[in-house]
Amino acid sequence: MDDTRVDHDHFIATQSAAWTALRRDLHAHPELAFAEHRTADLIAGRLQAAGIPLRRELGGTGVVGVVEGRRPGPMIGLRADMDALPMEERNNFAHRSVHAGRMHACGHDGHTAMLVAAAETLAVAPDFAGRVAFIFQPAEEGDGGARRMMDEGLFTDFPCEEVYALHNWPGLDAGSFAVHRGPVMASADQFDITLRGRGAHAAMPHQGLDPVTAAAALVQTLQTVVSRRTDPLRAGVVSVTRMQAGEAYNVIPETVTLGGTVRALDNTVRDALQAQITAAAEGIAVAHGLHATVDYRRGYPATVNHAAQADFAGRVAAALVGEDKVRRDMDPSMGAEDFGFMLMEKPGAYLWIGNGPGSGGCMLHNPLYDFNDEILPLGLRFWRALVQARLPL
Ligand SMILES: [Zn+2]
Ligand SMILES: [Zn+2]
Repeated sequence: MDDTRVDHDHFIATQSAAWTALRRDLHAHPELAFAEHRTADLIAGRLQAAGIPLRRELGGTGVVGVVEGRRPGPMIGLRADMDALPMEERNNFAHRSVHAGRMHACGHDGHTAMLVAAAETLAVAPDFAGRVAFIFQPAEEGDGGARRMMDEGLFTDFPCEEVYALHNWPGLDAGSFAVHRGPVMASADQFDITLRGRGAHAAMPHQGLDPVTAAAALVQTLQTVVSRRTDPLRAGVVSVTRMQAGEAYNVIPETVTLGGTVRALDNTVRDALQAQITAAAEGIAVAHGLHATVDYRRGYPATVNHAAQADFAGRVAAALVGEDKVRRDMDPSMGAEDFGFMLMEKPGAYLWIGNGPGSGGCMLHNPLYDFNDEILPLGLRFWRALVQARLPL
């Protein structure tokens, strides 16, 4: 055990600069959803050089490497996202994006580098009993790379008992973590509702079937889906953000289309919101003699931590940085995250690692954002400690 620690510490000391260089290289070469070819090549090259068997092209550009422990045991999965955002970087440092209109503004470059570092470190001295699947997933920023990897057999081919993910979090001090049971990130769905009536001269409304008055009633009714139909202790948002009716002042249009977004922190609330929005549209349409078409598109589910795994990951973090640097009281974010798909199938937890500073810093998806290289070794040590604690020899 002590020898292993010496091996690891020596390896980490010799490789730290290379990992920072890898992180900055990824930052300078951001790639969008399902186009992370260079990123996947870099990851695969490093895993291969470390003697780690791997699978490529799972979920498009996804890469999975597996490190075997010294003794047999269960498999767990550790996940990093690889994709960047379609936005212009405004930083001027040497490792700024070389691609116009693409930027690593969510720190996925850092998540990837931390997970590569963890795989390489554990491969040097695999002091655990079991197997660790290092899951590098494409397309987190909206296109559901996690879902696609799962659809293509991620958990059949790599039967993980549990899964974990780390996301950097500006607004949380560097050197600290946050994790809690239950919801961490919200679900994010979209809808379009078309109310179809019969157009008419606006001066003779009785000759038509007016979808505009029905749409006004529907917007009001949709506000009651959360306020009157959802448990007030459970969060949900229904926002109508688009409305398209006619063109003329004196024509009752044939159709009105409403669009909006739906968020929830609980997947049963999400299911209920979808059902109630659909029922409201159909009911209002019937009441006004119209026909409703509801196109409800499910995006990411809520990311909901499993209690035992969240507690466990919190203990691992606390053993590294001290109990006072592990926040368990952070509010969930109403942003969305496709690791939620994995947590619907496997027990696990999603943690935030502080990117610092605690306040006043640059937030995610900002053109001046950068992953904080100082937290890279902490992320690596967290992954190592989690594997050692979950798969003890
Ligand atoms: Zn993001
Ligand atoms: Zn992100």
